[in-house]
Parts: sequence; C-alpha cells; structure tokens
Amino acid sequence: MAKLDATPHADPLLIAGGGIGGLTAALKLAEAGFHIHVFEQADMLTESGAGLQLSPNALRILREMGILEKLRGKTGRSNSLRVMSGVDGKQLTEMPLGDIAQKRWGAPYLVAHRADLQQALLEACEASDNIMLHLGCRTLDYSAEHGVQFRYEQNGAQKEQKGCALIGADGVHSRIRALLLNDGDPLFSGYVAYRAQFNARDLPRMLSADSTYLWLAPNLHAVHYKLRGDMINLVAIVREDSLQKNQDEMAMPEILQDASRNYTGTLRTLLNIPQNWTRWPLFHRLPDTKTWPHLPVTLLGDAAHPMLPFLAQGAAQAVEDADVLTNCLINEPQYPDDAFENYRARRMKRVTKIQKAAAENGKVFHYSGLRAFARNNVLKMIGGRRMMALYDWVYGA
Ligand code: FAD
Repeated sequence: MAKLDATPHADPLLIAGGGIGGLTAALKLAEAGFHIHVFEQADMLTESGAGLQLSPNALRILREMGILEKLRGKTGRSNSLRVMSGVDGKQLTEMPLGDIAQKRWGAPYLVAHRADLQQALLEACEASDNIMLHLGCRTLDYSAEHGVQFRYEQNGAQKEQKGCALIGADGVHSRIRALLLNDGDPLFSGYVAYRAQFNARDLPRMLSADSTYLWLAPNLHAVHYKLRGDMINLVAIVREDSLQKNQDEMAMPEILQDASRNYTGTLRTLLNIPQNWTRWPLFHRLPDTKTWPHLPVTLLGDAAHPMLPFLAQGAAQAVEDADVLTNCLINEPQYPDDAFENYRARRMKRVTKIQKAAAENGKVFHYSGLRAFARNNVLKMIGGRRMMALYDWVYGA
C-alpha cells in the first residue's frame, strides 16, 4: 500500500457520505497517512439486508485493504452464472464463477449482504486513528476558498468544519454534486427494482442454490443468488412509467403478478415465493464527459456516475474510485485540486463505458419477439467460457 512521503496537510480531508464509496475512500486515504473526517446524515450506519454482488475488480482492492478477511464467513460464492429464458424456463448459457473465475481475474466473485460490507468498512474506520466519523450530520453546503469550509447540520444546529479538500460520496441524490456541477436532478430511468429475500429451501427444485441466476423475459428480468446462510436474494426489475416513491414493504406487487402470468412456471413460481417486496425506483444519469471545475472538491461513486445496476458495478466502481483517488492524492498531497483533476481524467473513460454497458444490458435483457430470439441464439452459441472473455474488461481491469 502506497503511503504519503510528506506530512499531511494541516487541515483534514473531508468526505460527505459514509456509504460504501465514502468509507472505502476514508480507509484508503487514512492508511496512506491522511487525516479524514467523514460526515454521514444517518445516525447509525445500518442498511436493510439487500444483497450485493462483489466482482473481482472490487475484491482485489478490498482484499488488499483487509476487508475481504473481515467478511470471512459472511459472503456467498456462486459456482456459476446461469442465464435463463423466462419465457420457456430453459437455460441459455452458464458462465463459470468459481475457481476458474478466481484464476482468470485474480480474485473471487462473491455475494454479500450490503449491511455486512458496510459493517466491515465501518469497524475498520472506527479502528483507525486517522478517521473521525461524524454520524447524524447532514451536508448543507461548502465554499472553496483557501481550502474548503464545509457546513452541515447536526441535531438542528448548523456547524462548520474547515478542510483542505472535500469529496462528495453522498450517493445518487448528491448534495455536493448539485453545488459543484449544478446539473439538475438524476433521471428516473423508467425501471423499478423489486427486492425480496426468502429461505433457500423454498427455491424450486430444478434450481440450484449454488448458482447465480439471471432470468430474461419481455419487460422483466430477475436475478437471484444465495447470500450467507440459507438466504436467497431476489431482485426483479420491470419497466414502470410513473414514478412512485413508496419504498415500504409490500405483498407481491400487481405489476409483477401481471408480468409473471406470461412466463414459464419456474419464473412464475419464483416470483410468487416472497411474502414481501421492497420497491426501488432506479435513477441514473447519462455519462457526463464535461470537465469539472478545478477546485479542491470532487465526487465519487454514485454521486459522480450513478448507473443502472444491470452490470452489478455501482459499488464496485465506487471502490475503484476510492483506490484511484487515493493514489492521485498521494502523488499531489499539497494540491488536491490538481490531484482531483488527475483522478477525474483517469476514471472518466472507464466509468463512462460501464454506465453505457449497464444501460444497454437493461434494453437487451428485456427484449421481446425476434430480438429476444436472436439474443437467445447468440447466448446459446457463445458458451460460458467465451462469455467470460466478454467480461475481462470489467473484472480483469
Ligand atoms: P451510497 O451507498 O448511496 O452512499 C451514500 C451515503 O451518503 C449514504 O450513506 C447516505 O446516507 C449519505 N448521504 C446522502 N446525502 C447526504 C447528505 N446530504 N449529508 C450527509 N450524508 C449524506 N452495485 C454493485 O457493485 N453490485 C451489485 O450487485 C449491485 N446491486 C444493486 C442492486 C440494486 C437494486 C441497486 C439499486 C443498486 C445496486 N448496486 C450494486 C449499486 C450500489 O448499491 C451503489 O452503486 C453503491 O451503493 C454506491 O455507493 P456510494 O457510496 O456511492 O453511495
């Protein structure tokens, strides 16, 4: 792990947002020798038990940081990714994800509870002398003259913190982004994710709990995999025109009932298993290729490049951001504005390509008619091993 040669700046580095990206950045920077303050609006960092696929490109970084070790016994490992036709229930292709994937991409492909990853990062942050966590602190605004003056609200009181630089890791609805780029709200994508969990014993008999499944059907796709223990994490994504914000637990939504009536027995059975679903309208932004202001303020993770989750790369890209950002700051610790410009230049091409690939997947997954027929034939022909090669640029980079 690279470290600072010089003594760190007298003022700390500030991070707004203590999600996966913010905490990873805090840890990486603290390990390098920087003093970090993290401001998170939540009073406690807990998240309901949604699953997260952790791909090798992110796991190589998390392993080097010791986080993978902290997750020992809490992750699941699928042997393969099976792509299924939701219309007739047949398998279209199977891509290996076990030892072969580990060998090819230098790290395993795992799944974890988001809460477990967040907890592992949080514990490491709490153990670091270089990190101060400020929970229950909501970002208000900042000014960037002679460093950064950061303003936040805690228990109804307005407070300030001076820093040498500010990193906005405050998610898809980022306040720091609004202040830095003033480029409007993120876009509702028209897709809604319904998430649920159930016990693996309820999985239809013809499905294996040791594989990750991707079901493709007109206007719906679904992904499921086993998390630690016997918990299956299921996400079904449908298109919905109207945007309703309600994210409460609900019984099987009408839209899934309607959709599932058209599909094979297995997909229908699967969608009927969970008692409760949580609804997540999906927001994103079109890739942003503009130059950002030359300031000691930057963005990371979903705040920088909110993407659709159809390549399972949002958190992975936040981890990669944290890694590259740290290296850039190590190279120019006294000039964070230059370091941030360098970071942006180094990340832009890759995150743009990933944002576009994720959006394209959404279209392809939901094909119907002739286009679905052609897609299925390509998947059958390509086979699992050659499919792995198509992911080298994502997982091997
Ligand atoms: P967040 O995790 O959103 O964290 C932002 C933090 O900032 C939060 O803690 C929030 O409370 C805080 N915050 C916000 N506003 C303020 C404020 N004003 N003041 C202070 N704090 C603030 N990615 C993967 O890599 N693999 C997957 O399998 C995967 N599956 C997904 C499935 C679904 C259905 C969805 C919706 C997303 C999925 N993602 C996946 C994407 C992933 O969840 C996100 O990309 C990732 O969490 C982004 O991390 P972040 O730290 O940038 O933002």
